[in-house]
Amino acid sequence: MLHIDAKPIDLKLSTPFRISRGVQAISPNVIVQINSNGYTGYGEASPSEYYGESVETVLACITLFAGNLGDDPFLIEDIMGRLDEIIRLHPSAKAAVDMALYDLIGKILGVPLYKLLGLNPKHTPYTSFTIGIDTPSNMAKKALVARDYPILKIKVGTRNDLAIIEAIREVSSAIIRVDANTGWTPKEAIRMINALAPYNIEFVEQPVPAHDLAGLKLIRENVAIPIIADESCVAIEDIPRLAECVDGVNLKLMKSNGITNVLKMIHVARAHNLRVMLGCMIESSLAITAAAHLTPLVDYADLDGNLLIDNDPYEGVRVVNGKLELPDAPGLGVRAVQG
Ligand code: MG
Repeated sequence: MLHIDAKPIDLKLSTPFRISRGVQAISPNVIVQINSNGYTGYGEASPSEYYGESVETVLACITLFAGNLGDDPFLIEDIMGRLDEIIRLHPSAKAAVDMALYDLIGKILGVPLYKLLGLNPKHTPYTSFTIGIDTPSNMAKKALVARDYPILKIKVGTRNDLAIIEAIREVSSAIIRVDANTGWTPKEAIRMINALAPYNIEFVEQPVPAHDLAGLKLIRENVAIPIIADESCVAIEDIPRLAECVDGVNLKLMKSNGITNVLKMIHVARAHNLRVMLGCMIESSLAITAAAHLTPLVDYADLDGNLLIDNDPYEGVRVVNGKLELPDAPGLGVRAVQG
């Protein structure tokens, strides 16, 4: 029988991280480990209240899953199917198990995850660096501090959105992506996105609430900047519905059950001619590295959760001049930081 353990960990944000829905100073995450024949695979959950999870629900799920993992870590499809039968939803708890299984089998086989998946590590994209909501002048200061990142993702959904983008554009010529995190109405979004047009914005993420697919479609028909769905895209079934409403989808391990399911979602999105972005929550280098291994398959990466924290217990993927550089040690290729 595969043995699983879980322990909570508080990731401390370097500065409080505000989006249109709220602010956080700490991200309470959970590290899991699965042992088999002397090998240990590690995974991480970053539970979001928005998706109905907390550290408590993750720990309860891991207890629930413990007797149901079987004894063969290579049977990931079977195992993940079983977890879905045991309980619906709880995507980050499932992502942690799935990630730990991939880490484990990679270590047993002695190959890094990208190689296990047949992916070319040279084809990783550049990652954006996220600037949370603050005053326009403070956000411009943060853009200056982040000048080594060629792509900035700017959180909006405030009364100052235009002033924010103006202030940042004044000090930065980086590629700018904008994320409203459901903060606008369709009407506001159309007005705002058209006002943003002169500032050379690459795309706008999730302008309106998750359920408002008609709103997304209306916006897309009335603006020139591409629209990417994030909160609207959680389950694989969401993708065909979104195909007529947006230009692309932002997929995350933590909202969609982990690597196994996100791989399927990437291919379904491609079948619907959608652009694909791989994003993250506030996560340590453990989960960020797991996601980074999939990035040779996608167009855009926003894998900076580990760059926003002060106490990252792991090291794995590196960002070199903005580009993701995958580790080539077996499994996820992640190491615990000493001290
Ligand atoms: Mg987003």
